[in-house]
Amino acid sequence: MFIAANWKMNLNKKSILNFSKQLKKFKFSNKVQTCIFPPMTYVDYLNELISKLPISVGGQNCHYKSSGAFTGEVSPKFLIDIGCEYVIIGHSERRTLNNEDNNEIKLRAQSAIDCNLKVILCVGESQNDRVKGLAREFVEKQLLQCLPNNFENCYIAYEPIWSIGTGLIPTKNEINEMHKNIKEFIFKTTNIETKVLYGGSVNKININDILDISNVDGVLVGGSSLEVKDFLAIYTAAVKHLVKSE
Ligand code: PEP
Repeated sequence: MFIAANWKMNLNKKSILNFSKQLKKFKFSNKVQTCIFPPMTYVDYLNELISKLPISVGGQNCHYKSSGAFTGEVSPKFLIDIGCEYVIIGHSERRTLNNEDNNEIKLRAQSAIDCNLKVILCVGESQNDRVKGLAREFVEKQLLQCLPNNFENCYIAYEPIWSIGTGLIPTKNEINEMHKNIKEFIFKTTNIETKVLYGGSVNKININDILDISNVDGVLVGGSSLEVKDFLAIYTAAVKHLVKSE
């Protein structure tokens, strides 16, 4: 079970310090893995603040080259250097706002894996594709074109674009079907058993329903991970879910 918190371009030094103080008062379980993805400028800072807690830190993206003339980019080696364990690649905001296509995403994911980062590779369809019944086909194409080699220990995050930050969520059945299909598709093409996170408008209210879905192995949370109380409520729900299913 994995809880990933994507802070995107939010919070600052002061709010991260406050967040970490609350985390330090909390009793974490070893049953649920968790990773926070702060803005790049604060990864190191957060990592030092929570170094004694069982929480990983990760980058929200990285470049496909490990060094060179790429102004404004972040090397996967830098992420390793400052203690990152994970990196998110192919988030729909990168795809849409920064024109990262499947080809580039594959390069970025491969480079991250080659540097020993664990990748959370995001896929997900638009509302238009969902309505037209093309969601499965769209996601399979993304997988086919983005999946790097040596994907063991990595995750897929299924994040329908129309669900991110909107409060709209696919039905339980739709999530289960998509996750099942992603797992089967990856197994068929690479022989690797992959874990799939759900992302899109997850919050402390709907988390129980989402974790009850059989092919969900965790969640990638955006907006609801910005308040420490919400983040910890989601984390606690994941721990309870595991205890219940033992
Ligand atoms: C995300 O951007 O990865 C995400 C899931 O955002 P939100 O939880 O805010 O929908």
